[in-house]
Amino acid sequence: MVHSTPKNRYRTSVQLSNTVNMRLYPVFLSLKSRDCLVVGDGPNARRRARMLMRCGALVTLMAKDKPPASFDGLHRHLDRRFREEDPADYWLVIAAMEDVASNASIAQACQKHRTFCHEVTSQANSSFVLPAIIDRSPLLIAISSGSAATALVLSLKRKLDGLIPAAYAQMGELMDQHQGKLEKMIPKQSERALFWRPLLDGPIAQHASSNTAAHFEQSLEKAMAEYDHKVDAKKRTGFVSLVGAGPGDPDLLTLRALQLIQSADVIVYDRLVSESIVDLRRKDTQMLYAGKAKSEHSMPQVAINQLLVDLAIKGHNVVRLKGGDPFIFGRGGEEIEMLAKNNIPFQVVPGVTAATGCSAYAGIPLTHRDHAQSCVFVTGHLKNDKINLNWKDFHDPTQTIVFYMGLTGLTRICATLIEIGRLADTPAALVEQGTTANQRTHVGTLESLPALVEHRAVKAPTLLIVGSVVSLHKTLNWFQPDQSQADTTQSHFSSEKSHP
Ligand code: SAH
Repeated sequence: MVHSTPKNRYRTSVQLSNTVNMRLYPVFLSLKSRDCLVVGDGPNARRRARMLMRCGALVTLMAKDKPPASFDGLHRHLDRRFREEDPADYWLVIAAMEDVASNASIAQACQKHRTFCHEVTSQANSSFVLPAIIDRSPLLIAISSGSAATALVLSLKRKLDGLIPAAYAQMGELMDQHQGKLEKMIPKQSERALFWRPLLDGPIAQHASSNTAAHFEQSLEKAMAEYDHKVDAKKRTGFVSLVGAGPGDPDLLTLRALQLIQSADVIVYDRLVSESIVDLRRKDTQMLYAGKAKSEHSMPQVAINQLLVDLAIKGHNVVRLKGGDPFIFGRGGEEIEMLAKNNIPFQVVPGVTAATGCSAYAGIPLTHRDHAQSCVFVTGHLKNDKINLNWKDFHDPTQTIVFYMGLTGLTRICATLIEIGRLADTPAALVEQGTTANQRTHVGTLESLPALVEHRAVKAPTLLIVGSVVSLHKTLNWFQPDQSQADTTQSHFSSEKSHP
């Protein structure tokens, strides 16, 4: 299988203009108590009749067979043939006969009477289509390509279905129930919009991703009570989400990470977050760069910790986006300790860490029954020209060792492993900018890798994998980075240095 990583794939290049480029006019019809006709006997006709009944339409089913008793709510059943004058009595008609010619003549009769008609056997004869829907009633999303690209519609439907929490249905109902009271409380529409924003784009809606609307109801009632007591909405404390952005490929984000990125007021991101992930934000989201490079601490850790507290106190919904997983060599723990100390509510969203992302995309399983029974993740960071590790723990040939931040110290790491007893011909791989279009995998042994890498202008971030499992790369290397998307001039990430 071949997989590629196009850059900026989420950007649209469609130009809007007044020329005729929309095949259909999007509307949602209110059919409550309006007469609608469905013609046909099969399951198709019944399914369509049921949907119209769910919308409160007065549905007439014209069919030879009497519908079963379970089909309650039907306005009437007509056991006769369709007549040309029938459409005059209906707002819309669905022609769901099995034979194409009968459907076509129903569509023709509707055309004469200017009654909208959907003909199940021919899109061309229909004056309206039935879109694919994502039903979180009262929230309804309809998708159509006007029959141009049905598979694309279905693929998008599947994606959106996964993205929109089921609890949005209950949230929509709750909003509806509170609407009247809220309109009295906040008569101005623009102020009501401000009231809703923190509830819908903030922490409460995030609870909906765990599929419970109970939090939403409580928070809504609390927000209304606070508003009633004239508490300035801006004084309410915000929320911080510490989110793992994965190793680079945006497709490796979790659903929750994507939802949070797209609903944040402020995103505080770090150097290791790839540009294509930063591009997923809303255009009005404030972006704060807290990147750190090895020798140029553009923002010291304490300053980042304080920044998160300050932003939350101002009432912002903050996403702290970190490369990989926030709890693996990410100092995420320190950032939330400070939040906890200041009573700021927060959540942690795990991400795919560099070790699992790079090993998957390089075709190097970290454990394998024939090669390695365990693996460890360590930091190869050099401090005062030394790497502080318990080297004696690493002599086991059935253990894979993954070194984060191991590029600068590569020669030292390989030499030390040989000194403590690992064989000089132990396979070792350096995965460069793993999971991105710029990924390269440099494979050698503990003895040969440092010299091999020296001449290849390697760019950080890189991950070093040591152990017998590396020999599997030759046969399991499935990922073909899309060369046309590779950036030959600069790193895919904001800086080339490794994380301190
Ligand atoms: N929290 C991060 C790690 C931060 S430490 C995580 O869980 O992945 C930074 C180190 O991670 C880098 O020096 C490098 O060793 C590794 N790293 C992060 N992204 C990488 C990538 N796309 N390819 C190779 N190594 C990566």
